[in-house]
Amino acid sequence: MDSLNIIIPVIATNYSELDIYAWNSNANKPYFSIIGDQGGACICGNDKERYMVLEIPESEFTFESMHRFSVIPHEMFHAYQMSISKTFYDGDFRIKCLSEGTAASFESIYVKQHYSYNYFKFDQNMVDLEVLTSPRIFENYDSIGDVNYSTSVFMILVLVKELRKKNISEQKAFELVFRSFFKKNPSNVNWKNIFEEVFSISVDNFYSSISNYSNDIETVLPSGDLNLLDIFQLSSENYVINVTSPDSDDYILNDIDTNGVVEGRDSKITVKLGDKLTFEVDAFGHPFYLKNKQGLGTNDLVAGADNNGIESGTVTWVPQSKGTFFTNVPYIMVCTVKFLLNKNIKSQSNGISF
Ligand SMILES: [Zn+2]
Repeated sequence: MDSLNIIIPVIATNYSELDIYAWNSNANKPYFSIIGDQGGACICGNDKERYMVLEIPESEFTFESMHRFSVIPHEMFHAYQMSISKTFYDGDFRIKCLSEGTAASFESIYVKQHYSYNYFKFDQNMVDLEVLTSPRIFENYDSIGDVNYSTSVFMILVLVKELRKKNISEQKAFELVFRSFFKKNPSNVNWKNIFEEVFSISVDNFYSSISNYSNDIETVLPSGDLNLLDIFQLSSENYVINVTSPDSDDYILNDIDTNGVVEGRDSKITVKLGDKLTFEVDAFGHPFYLKNKQGLGTNDLVAGADNNGIESGTVTWVPQSKGTFFTNVPYIMVCTVKFLLNKNIKSQSNGISF
């Protein structure tokens, strides 16, 4: 719990408390008087409150199953989803491949990082062939062919691969999937719009891309040294900066960054690693370039910026590394990294299970 609390601090935003009932299955329902017959592992509840249940089967201790550990980060990830997303807490977002695929991918990365065991490869390898042709089946919690959420996990890993094709780092791709998407409060009604907004891929296009893969988890595994802290310490703000140009010497920048107001000629912008910069450019005759090196002209452009070099319109860019970057005037941007603080807050409750 201490290490999870550093990675995904669960904050009681949408509830005030989340009790945890955990026991070895051989203990015969020790919390029967409080939670009744509820067993297994879930975020579940009754009409009064919501709680986490972790009944660990005795056989998992006997046979040293990795699941006796992995189930804890899985359920804690659901608590995190509830803390950052009101719609998730309210049960208004019930898209299995995204809700469970993320929790089960998180659990596997956690296990790899802490126990050097590839849970993806050994325990989430039963990817259903049907995902290649009918992925939308797995939106539904009642869909079969998703043993230990293998198929939902496969879909999440494919989504990360597709994001990486758009010049997004692996860490940032997981950050978008694990956090940014849920922070936008997707519901069963609007989730496809939010999906496209966050990932810049429509759900339909994502589903068609899955047919280019084979249903083999080993073809979509993340890097072996992927670290959850690197993912979650990424910030995920979108800063919108207005850019005008009174002459061909300077740009006027307006709006806010991490330090507050940005204003005036060629001012400096500071953001955190993981943040997105959206420049609304209105600089007729003075194309706006984002560059790695200072200087006029169109050399040394940054990687991954959309519409770099336009005179009018929107330039978007997520810096992939720390550094100082420039435009085609002596204006400077600094990209710093934020260190995640350890928060320790308990989280409350109602009748739904994940
Ligand atoms: Zn789950």
